[in-house]
Amino acid sequence: MLKGLCWKCKDTKAGKYRNISFIYLGLSVTIFKDGLTCIACAKEEWIKDFEESAKGFISLVNDKPKVDWPHYHEHFAMGRFHDQKKKVHSLLIDLGILSPQPKGNWDIVADGPIGLNPRAFLSYLYFTQKEDAVEFARLEKDDTMYNWEIHQIAEVISKDKVIKKSR
Ligand SMILES: [Zn+2]
Repeated sequence: MLKGLCWKCKDTKAGKYRNISFIYLGLSVTIFKDGLTCIACAKEEWIKDFEESAKGFISLVNDKPKVDWPHYHEHFAMGRFHDQKKKVHSLLIDLGILSPQPKGNWDIVADGPIGLNPRAFLSYLYFTQKEDAVEFARLEKDDTMYNWEIHQIAEVISKDKVIKKSR
């Protein structure tokens, strides 16, 4: 294997790891490209995942990607297709609909408090748009025995910062 070539196509230099952005079917996509894959292959992989797992749940409304939450609700009812669901959540991060970053974003919180937001494979996610949080909560959490609320997170202070400040 030649050094620095993409592991997938073995044809193009992989280049450094970084975020890349591109447009697909009118959707603005931002993904993290690792240092072993070239841009073309990283895109191709994302598109394949999107087509397989998420495309059926997304439509463009006023040039913005919109999730068909009722269809999502029906498709994933009763805990079906659990892995696909996590994959969809990951793809929604790339479309800017969900985010692992709490600040400024929306969280559905049950008494406890317990976070009711979607999760990806590794992280708890937040809604970037209030409308999505509201529609998701209405569909997914309407029959819960417990109470819940939707919060927007105004400020986040890391543990490090808090500890340093108090010293
Ligand atoms: Zn490649």
